[in-house]
Amino acid sequence: MTKRNGVAALRKALKDRTAETQQLLETAENDLVNLRAAKNAESDDDEHDPDGATMSAEWSRLEGRAADARDELAQLEQARRRLDDGDPAVCVDCGEPIPMERLLVRPMADRCVDCAERTGR
Ligand SMILES: [Zn+2]
Repeated sequence: MTKRNGVAALRKALKDRTAETQQLLETAENDLVNLRAAKNAESDDDEHDPDGATMSAEWSRLEGRAADARDELAQLEQARRRLDDGDPAVCVDCGEPIPMERLLVRPMADRCVDCAERTGR
């Protein structure tokens, strides 16, 4: 893969991943809105809501998913800016370049495979 082709492919990977993540975030936020509406509708007559626990578990799950998506969008934005500036993607731990093959799969990666495996990220 030539460098130029690699950059174009990475741009596309970033764009696709951003669109996917935005979709995830939107879905999670919509679900949160719906969940809140359902909760409000029920809270009038039932103080000992049997679904309360389920609902708050669901709530945390959705909140977590939305927060993850927001984090990822920020990382993707950073990666895009780095690409615009022509900075090579290097591992934040060891400073080695991150292989294009890895970036195409995980465009927001900020660690090389070895360091990612070591830190569990
Ligand atoms: Zn590394």
